[in-house]
Amino acid sequence: MREKIAIIGAGIAGCTAARMLADAGHEIVLFEKSGGTGGRLSTRRTEFGEFDHGAQYVTAKGAPFRSLMAALSDQNAAARWRPTGQDREGDWFVGTPGMSGLVKPMLKGLNVHMRTRIVDMQRREDGIVCTTEQAEEQVFDRVIVAIPSPQASALLSPVDRIFKALDDVVYMPCWTSMFGFENPIDTLPNLFRGDDTMTISWLARNNTKPKRSGVESICAQAGAEWSRDNLEMDKNEAVSVMQAALEEMAGRKLAPVYAQAHRWRYARVDKPLGMPFLASDDGKLFAIGDGMLGGRVEAAFESGRLLCAHLNATS
Ligand code: FAD
Repeated sequence: MREKIAIIGAGIAGCTAARMLADAGHEIVLFEKSGGTGGRLSTRRTEFGEFDHGAQYVTAKGAPFRSLMAALSDQNAAARWRPTGQDREGDWFVGTPGMSGLVKPMLKGLNVHMRTRIVDMQRREDGIVCTTEQAEEQVFDRVIVAIPSPQASALLSPVDRIFKALDDVVYMPCWTSMFGFENPIDTLPNLFRGDDTMTISWLARNNTKPKRSGVESICAQAGAEWSRDNLEMDKNEAVSVMQAALEEMAGRKLAPVYAQAHRWRYARVDKPLGMPFLASDDGKLFAIGDGMLGGRVEAAFESGRLLCAHLNATS
């Protein structure tokens, strides 16, 4: 039976669910609070280059995600990235022309409401009412919430206590800084990976990824523990502390033409729920996303995919 289904959040989990359920013949309405799709698969475009300031790359361990990467590569939305300094086995894929490119093909033909935050949900006899920040209401047969678990709990727990279980999911934050330069900084490595206590625990020259503009654009991520200990730091202070750490790595003073910090409050999952999705007893409300199976893009994809396989098999 064709149902009207709301999906909240256009990250990889929400986009995967939207595509699969639309392909199964359902009427899908996807709500995204920000001005871009992809969620933490995000790319910031500036006149000084483009920065993947969320997820850096993806690996594909399971067959379904490997098939998605193959299909996206055929559509020029993904490509292999083989940076010098790669220290992990297996192929690394990136979205093209940016990480957010990975979700774009999934959204073709779908009804996506951008800059529309869902702030409330209520059960009614005729279905589940979703209310936007602009106080607009729509009624759905089912609602799938595909956002970080603490935010999902805030929306869902008042409607159904079962979703209090989402409070057990633990996320770690991540301060990320983006630095653009007029000229290459040859003394910096293409890739650096440190530990969770470091001011810079990951560094990548974004311009070494395929199909980028070539302008020297560096993404630096602070370690999870460092980010947690400095969570409430001012943005300007965070970027200058991280620039000092970058200068130490480069062995000289640097003069970036672009320097911005972004704080991800919910960056990587430290403790997932341990099941692919969480459902209300009446099968009308669902939580999916990386909080379910783990803090990787593939795990968020799997959460969305496994929920839809379940719905397609049971409805
Ligand atoms: P999200 O991508 O967070 O999507 C949720 C969406 O919901 C967002 O677009 C948000 O704006 C929207 N939203 C939230 N609330 C509402 C609301 N009320 N109404 C409407 N919309 C709403 N993973 C890897 O595999 N490899 C990596 O290298 C990697 N590096 C990372 C580096 C950083 C700095 C970060 C932050 C994450 C990284 N990850 C990495 C983790 C990976 O990005 C996530 O696990 C994955 O993208 C999560 O996808 P999701 O769909 O569950 O959630």
